[in-house]
Amino acid sequence: LSERLEGAFKTLKGESKLTELNIAQSVKEIRRALVAADVNYKIAKEFTDTVKDKALGQENVLNAVKPGQLMVKIVNDELVDLMGGTVTDIDIKGKPAVILIAGLQGSGKTTFSGKLAYHLKGNRRKSPLLVACDVYRPAAINQLSVIGEQINVPVYKEMDNQNPVEIALKGIAHAQAHGHDVVIVDTAGRLSIDEKMMEEISNVKEAIQPNETLFVVDAMTGQDAVNTAKSFNDRINYDGVVLTKLDGDTRGGAALSIKYTVGKPIKFVSMGEKMETLDVFHPDRMASRILGMGDIISFVEKAEMQFDEEKAKKLEKKIRKNKFDFNDFLEQIGQIRKMGDLKSLINMIPGMSKMTKNLDIDDSAFNKVEAIIFSMTPQERNHPELMNLSRKKRIAKGCGHSIEEVNLFLKQFDQMRKMMHKMSKMPGMGTGAPTGG
Ligand code: GDP
Ligand code: MG
Repeated sequence: LSERLEGAFKTLKGESKLTELNIAQSVKEIRRALVAADVNYKIAKEFTDTVKDKALGQENVLNAVKPGQLMVKIVNDELVDLMGGTVTDIDIKGKPAVILIAGLQGSGKTTFSGKLAYHLKGNRRKSPLLVACDVYRPAAINQLSVIGEQINVPVYKEMDNQNPVEIALKGIAHAQAHGHDVVIVDTAGRLSIDEKMMEEISNVKEAIQPNETLFVVDAMTGQDAVNTAKSFNDRINYDGVVLTKLDGDTRGGAALSIKYTVGKPIKFVSMGEKMETLDVFHPDRMASRILGMGDIISFVEKAEMQFDEEKAKKLEKKIRKNKFDFNDFLEQIGQIRKMGDLKSLINMIPGMSKMTKNLDIDDSAFNKVEAIIFSMTPQERNHPELMNLSRKKRIAKGCGHSIEEVNLFLKQFDQMRKMMHKMSKMPGMGTGAPTGG
């Protein structure tokens, strides 16, 4: 997907503002990209029509923002909006609250049941009970028992009973008698939509009147996920969706299609087989993922930096010869600045915002460095090795920073220069400097 989107934003490379023509071109690319990420064609078309209208509406207002960046923002906001905007909680009020788990066989119901119990116990201070209603496969009941033991949550099961309605009701009674405040009912699935399965699950639902019915679906099943989601919803009118197996390299297009088609909120995402890998659904994170995971930076960079290949080659040569100087450094800072607001760019990378929360990435560090370099003579800028104490003193005075600060920067510059030189000598290594690709 990211490659496709890269194409979309390449269209905007070098353009200084959004126009009807470049919007139309990039919208077409975005649509292709969404389809490639398993978003249904009709949905992708409607989605991009909305994006187009929004972009057209903004073409005159936001001259200051680079078009690539603006397009990313519009697409991102629209994705977030479509997927529900905010996090949707589950209803766990009641004595006990009852949560019914439905979905195809292999979608991850039993694993999710365990994860949910673990989550409710650990994060919400609940005392859950798991109920094993997958009566056709003894192995399924054992599987839930093993999970229950692992997370220290009791499992209600009846090895000799083939009636899931009865087991569910008795399970709930058991919970009431033993002070459990949430009951999670794990059910049987089939490999595909099947009338008997639907009848059984709707009977269970009818009988136990759950607070929440959650539909579990494997995100890796792509387009099929939407069809399954629709069939189940038509039949049991569930309250929310759980997307599993997002630890793979699926781009999450299913999240968009399901929300769009069925209109039910996605409440949880599951990312692995370990019990701790359950997360409430964050539309903004999913939007980043659909937009191309960690690659978003690189294509914004590409659209924005307009870095000239020629310049990149020249720079590489200079680094190889250990001739990287203060002018080159200034230019690099300028390139980074062209990308716009660093913080918001970095926040678009999934998982990155957490890591950089306490990091101070702002322009002031650049300002200081620039002031120091601007206080150098042209000769000094071209020949870093000329630096000596009297020059440093003069520079410090000129830029209004202390001699210690000037020294610190020069030392860092020297280290960086050495490092880049070293790296340029390693086989297969680039310069480490941003190159527009
Ligand atoms: P059920 O038939 O719907 O109950 O599905 P299970 O919970 O038994 O899961 C089917 C298979 O998928 C098992 O091998 C699970 O370990 C695996 N599984 C479930 N959830 C995830 C997930 O989020 N990520 C990965 N990688 N595997 C999962
Ligand atoms: Mg199961």
